[in-house]
Order: sequence, then C-alpha cells, then structure tokens
Amino acid sequence: MNIPFVDLVSQYTSIKDEIDNAFYSSLNTGEFIGGDSVRSFETAFSKYVNRKYCISCANGTDSIEILLEAFGVKKGDEVIVPAYSWISTSESVSRLGAKPVFVDIEKDFYCIDANLIESKITPNTKGIIPVHFYGQPANMPQIMAIANKYKLFVIEDCAQAHGAEIYGKNVGSWGHAASFSFYPGKNLGAYGDAGAIVTDLEEIAIKCKKIANHGQLKKHEHSIEGRNSRLDTIQAKILLVKLNYLNTWNLKRIKNAKYYNTRLNPSNIILPSVRENSKHVFHLYVIRTKRRGELISKLEKAGVQTAIHYPKPLPFLECYTYLESKQDDFPVACSIQNEILSIPMYPELAKMQMDYIIGIINE
Ligand SMILES: *Cc1c(COP(=O)(O)O)cnc(C)c1O
Repeated sequence: MNIPFVDLVSQYTSIKDEIDNAFYSSLNTGEFIGGDSVRSFETAFSKYVNRKYCISCANGTDSIEILLEAFGVKKGDEVIVPAYSWISTSESVSRLGAKPVFVDIEKDFYCIDANLIESKITPNTKGIIPVHFYGQPANMPQIMAIANKYKLFVIEDCAQAHGAEIYGKNVGSWGHAASFSFYPGKNLGAYGDAGAIVTDLEEIAIKCKKIANHGQLKKHEHSIEGRNSRLDTIQAKILLVKLNYLNTWNLKRIKNAKYYNTRLNPSNIILPSVRENSKHVFHLYVIRTKRRGELISKLEKAGVQTAIHYPKPLPFLECYTYLESKQDDFPVACSIQNEILSIPMYPELAKMQMDYIIGIINE
C-alpha cells in the first residue's frame, strides 16, 4: 500500500464538478484579478471567523507582514513569537526591521507557553504573535490578559487552524487581528498561494487594504506607498466552494485523530493531546518517539510517507545565529525536535489506511 503524506487529488475528486465550474467560470468571463468573487469570499470568510473585516491577500506570510506594518512595527521594536513555528511567523517581524523574541512552547500542546511571555517583555515590545500550532488553539485567554496588561497587540497566526476554537470562540476572533494562509495543504487550501487578514478594527482593516493594494483605496489615489498582494479571482472562486466543506472536513480530521489516538499503542510513543475547552482541528497529527529514525524508515519501506514539522526550532535556524540563542532557554523546543513526527492526516484518509499505519507503528 502507498499512503501519501497529503492527498489533495482525492479531495478535488470529491467536489470535482463544483471546482471545475468555479475554475471555468473565471476562464469564460476573463476575470482573473478582483471582481465580485474576491469580495464574496472576503464576506463569507469574515462571517466564518466571526470578524467584521476580511482583507484577502496573496499568501499567509504576506498577511502577517501586512498586519505588522499596519500596527506600525518598525526598526527597534520587538515582537514575541513562539520558538516553534513555520519561519513566516518570525520572518515577517524581521522583514520590518524589528526583532523576533522567541518564547519556548508548552510540552503538552506545542503552542507558545503563555507563562513565559511576561519575562520576555521589554519597553520595546509591541506585540505577540501566538500560533495555533498543528491545529491546536494557543492559550488565548491568558495571552489576551497579558497583552491587555502591557498594551500589546496580538496577531493570531491561524495558518494551521482554520475552524479551531477555544472556549467556543473561533481562533482568529480573539486577538486584535489574525492572519490566515490558504496554501494548498492547509485545512482550507486554495489551488495555489492565497491568504487573508481578519480584524474588527476599522483603522487596521483600512491600512491593510491600502498596503496590500499599492496604497490606494480608490484607483490612482495613492495616499501611501504599498505593495501588490492580491488574491486571484480563480483562487477566490475555489475557496468559496471549499469554505462550505471546511467544517465537515475538520470533523473528519478530528474523527481520524480519535481513531489514531485510541488505537496507537502509547507505551513507546507520545500521542497528541488536546487542550481543555478546545477544538483542535488536526492540521497535522504529530506523535513523538525516541526511535524516530527507525520508525521513519520502517514506514517508508511500507509505502507510508511522513514529515517533520519542523526539524529545528526557529531560534536555531542558521538565519538566527546572530541572536546567539541558548538551548537552555528553550528546553521544550529542544527536547521535542528530535522526536516529533507527522504521520498522514487528512479528511479523506480511510480506516483501512489508518489501520495499516497503526499496525506498522505499534509493531
Ligand atoms: C503556512 C504557514 C504560514 C504561511 O503561509 P504561506 O501562505 O505559505 O505564506 C504562516 N505561518 C504558519 C504557522 C504556517 O504554517
């Protein structure tokens, strides 16, 4: 049996007619940039997350960077980010000349450890970017309390957690604003690059809209210099179709995670745990084992693809050597880096496929 790490084709096949119609309606009308579909998607997505404004853009990394610029982040500022994430979270901070300040993660949930945030706050700290990592919501009540106490902005990085909830409230609706990626493999994925910003703050929404569109709200009226970060019409049409399935797909991911959780033998591996009062949407299903190399090659020989998210904590990437981070400052991140392993997880994963994977891992 061959089981790919992600299977975007079987999802496409399951909604082929709707996707094909969306795709060809763009070709047949010659509409590729802007238009009603982009606005319809923004409206639909802001409703989904329960926020007033949604500004679509070219990708998830742009959505973080544009937000940081809108919040006025500049050289000399510091922004707190988790020690484990995809590089976009910290890269966006550096792109604006500010300094990413890394905070270790929680040993059970892998999100930024809110208990450690206060010790990293300085007079230069402007904001916090919690990441809802692997699909698990970060501890938003605690993070918002700290942010309010020190008057910091909070941008939620929701790239891995579309539809996740904590205390019944959507991720993306807790912070001052939130960023989303619709990279094809995410829980809500386009067929190319795409991203979005959501917020309730009118001023931030307007700034983001300007920055993403050459500084103009009306054509040829450039009140500031901006950039070009647009959601393509074709992608908006595809996302409008797929948004209708997001909740169903997330429930299937949760069901598959339960299946793995109840059948994988926990004596030699650490299984993912879910924070209390949270809906974890399992963008990734990440186990931990001290015998990772052995397990990867065994699964590979049996035709099962796996992946590591990610091989190194952010502070120890080559590009951050200048920060001279010490392993002792990130004990959790450093202890999991050689143990984490992502095994296949998607809504279309069949019981038979999971049984096959479970059999190999338990053996
Ligand atoms: C995917 C991802 C992003 C960036 O998304 P792109 O659309 O690829 O730019 C940002 N943050 C996290 C945590 C991600 O997983």
